[in-house]
Amino acid sequence: MGDYSPLDEGSSGARRLPAGDLSRLRERLVAGETISGDGLSDEDALAARVGELGAGLEGLDIFTATEIADFSRCPLRYEFAHLRRLPGDWILEEREEGGQAVAGHVVGTLLHEVLERARRGEPLAKALDRILRGRGEYARNAEALRAECLPILAALEQSRFYERLSALGGERELSFSVFLEGIIFEGKIDRYAPDEIIDFKSDSISADEAPVYAEGYRAQMDVYALAAWRLTGRVPGRVTLYFLRPGVEVGWDYAADGLAQAERRVLAAVEAIRKGPPYAARPEDDCRCEYKNLCRIIAARRSTPG
Ligand code: SF4
Repeated sequence: MGDYSPLDEGSSGARRLPAGDLSRLRERLVAGETISGDGLSDEDALAARVGELGAGLEGLDIFTATEIADFSRCPLRYEFAHLRRLPGDWILEEREEGGQAVAGHVVGTLLHEVLERARRGEPLAKALDRILRGRGEYARNAEALRAECLPILAALEQSRFYERLSALGGERELSFSVFLEGIIFEGKIDRYAPDEIIDFKSDSISADEAPVYAEGYRAQMDVYALAAWRLTGRVPGRVTLYFLRPGVEVGWDYAADGLAQAERRVLAAVEAIRKGPPYAARPEDDCRCEYKNLCRIIAARRSTPG
């Protein structure tokens, strides 16, 4: 860890949209994004958004919903993952005795991929095998990944939640870019339907821990709810987190709560990010994150005067 060098303390923790990215962003918005589901092609909204990408937007702050979530859960984790872009699994270096451990975020990515790409009516185990066979980056850990993901997917498939999900329809992996208070927010919603937004989480937690973990993701769900409203003009009725490992869902009724509080929470997170690093670790976090080893070193260094 000798190469670790603190960022300038005065530097903003926000990413800025470079001038060169503006045309790329404009092209992406124009080319890619419609919202089907309930017939919402929403050309008007798209046109309005492209119009907003007029002159003078260079230098705007840009945040992803994941960045907001990571900062809300632990500011130091945000610093590692998004400012320094440190590879967590490289630092983790954990191997279970007699076995092969796979970094949690790889399992999470694969589970999301299965849920995104499973064909209509296709058993999830079959979709898992198809993806494992087709993607070279999973080959090295294919058996360990299969062993870890199969029981999670089987339990999901047998749940009442999965019945509801299958009946819900809507868009899978809906990408968005929206403006809010002069800031660009980007993200990808796992499942978007006009009356419900669903996001899957693969944290290794128990059912009892789900409500506390869900609060850590609240600002991310706020961004999704605000994005859905900006894009469609509708407040999503319900925003649901589904924790895949314990098989627990936690949801909020945004239609009842309104979006004002959601906006306040998101802007508060942005304001805290903009103060810049070094960011604090979140002491109450039980630290099942991929930066655990690095975190101990950095926390000790930062608590040592001089
Ligand atoms: S190990 Fe815990 S305190 Fe350290 S960065 Fe990760 S979540 Fe934050």
